[in-house]
Amino acid sequence: MPDDRRSSAPFSAIVWFRDDLRLGDHPALTAAARAGTLTCLYLLDQDSAGLRAHGGASRWWLAQSLRALDANLRKLGQRLVLRRGKAADVIPSLAHECGATHVYWNRRYDRAGIAADEAVIAALKARGVTGGTFPGSLLVEPGKLLNKDGGPLRVFTPFWKRVLSLGDPRRPLPAPKRLPPPLDIASSHLEDWHLEPTMPDWAGGLRATWTPGEAAARQRLADFLDTIRGYADERDRPDRPSTSRLSPHLRFGEVSAGEVFHAARFAAEKGDAPSRDIEKYLSELGWREFSYHLLHHFPDLATKNLQPRFDAFPWRSDDAALKAWQRGQTGYPIVDAGMRELWHTGWMHNRVRMVVASFLIKHLLIDWRLGEQWFWDTLVDADPANNTASWQWVAGSGADAAPYFRIFNPILQGERFDPNGDYVRQWVPEIAALPDRFIHKPWMATPLELAEAKVTLGKTYPAPMVDHDLARKRALAAFDRIKG
Ligand code: FAD
Repeated sequence: MPDDRRSSAPFSAIVWFRDDLRLGDHPALTAAARAGTLTCLYLLDQDSAGLRAHGGASRWWLAQSLRALDANLRKLGQRLVLRRGKAADVIPSLAHECGATHVYWNRRYDRAGIAADEAVIAALKARGVTGGTFPGSLLVEPGKLLNKDGGPLRVFTPFWKRVLSLGDPRRPLPAPKRLPPPLDIASSHLEDWHLEPTMPDWAGGLRATWTPGEAAARQRLADFLDTIRGYADERDRPDRPSTSRLSPHLRFGEVSAGEVFHAARFAAEKGDAPSRDIEKYLSELGWREFSYHLLHHFPDLATKNLQPRFDAFPWRSDDAALKAWQRGQTGYPIVDAGMRELWHTGWMHNRVRMVVASFLIKHLLIDWRLGEQWFWDTLVDADPANNTASWQWVAGSGADAAPYFRIFNPILQGERFDPNGDYVRQWVPEIAALPDRFIHKPWMATPLELAEAKVTLGKTYPAPMVDHDLARKRALAAFDRIKG
């Protein structure tokens, strides 16, 4: 591309895509669509201080999502330019290379990301380039909602009421119908980033389960809203396909929270969906907002107990127990089913996430941060706000958290939310032939019943690694030490 093309454009822009890998409802892209030339950038930044690297499952998703975004851009005569390096170095030098006068992006909310963005803005300013940031990921910008003393709202219900009292979020922006032409500049090759596993290739389950990308996200949203009836009552059932499974699409911003919000409200207005189900669904999106609000006020959420008394909690160090939990070999079928679903698909049902997290923290007394890290590495929806806030919620160390003394009983949770054992049978096939009444407690079956189901405890399936009642007492005693 001749240089005159670069300099003659009245306004030449770069859009920096991050956790917003879509064309629809993308304020930064909409602003840049008026430019004379446009560079669409994704930067793999492993060099800015403190940025948390993607976990393994997220890396796989990211690769697919970048391909989908590039394909969508190409339909509009554009393309995705890939670069690698520290944002504050790469972006100003790319702006120079492109003759860009403006660099636009949608905001992120983790402390290291904010610091990296501020460094980019300063470096651009020094070169006379404008850095423009937009709200694109949340319904309400975090930090806007405070209690009457000017502090953060720490309880979900008043938080969500306040969000709803602000009125509906702005309507989603349509995807641009045309985009300015790209410049002929170099791009890294996605394959050189080695985001996808090769030896061994463990991503077969992810490929079989998911279709990343904006079109698939929108399709999933539409399909879900068609069948949302019953969501409020059934969303806790892991044996039913009752939730939207939009979390990885939201995590990577393939669809915006605002678009999901308006699509859900529209379904209710049309009379297609009961408002009870819609309001419940919107309040789940509300938990995502709440997590980001907490991350804004407590930037160390991933590593630091929100309630400092938990700093003195007597965590146990037990690598063998941690491994048994990670591999789904605890001897508690609902826990093992969840951990295996996670390993195979990169996702786990919310109710089961609560049960397995509670088991690690309270039955095994293992630090919630180790569980958070495992989820970070294995979830396709691993989210800097939702994952950390949820782990602290289960631990009891977070905001509006489950009280520490509420210890999930993995047998009763299984019997209540997977009453026929279908979920357990899918993920723990070695005990599938047990009668329903033992599917959540195989050790209660007689030797004859076990033999008939071809189950040998300790051999074909583990005996429970801790006794529930003893574990419960031990957890309460540990909690007593930090109470008061
Ligand atoms: P739906 O019920 O269809 O909900 C719609 C959307 O609302 C979800 O996609 C999600 O964006 C949001 N949402 C729903 N429940 C919650 C919640 N409790 N907290 C915050 N947002 C919520 N969610 C993540 O997106 N990423 C994570 O890394 C993550 N880690 C978790 C760790 C633990 C220990 C626990 C208990 C929960 C975690 N969650 C996380 C929250 C929740 O489990 C998932 O968002 C949900 O299971 C995703 O499935 P879905 O899209 O079908 O949910």
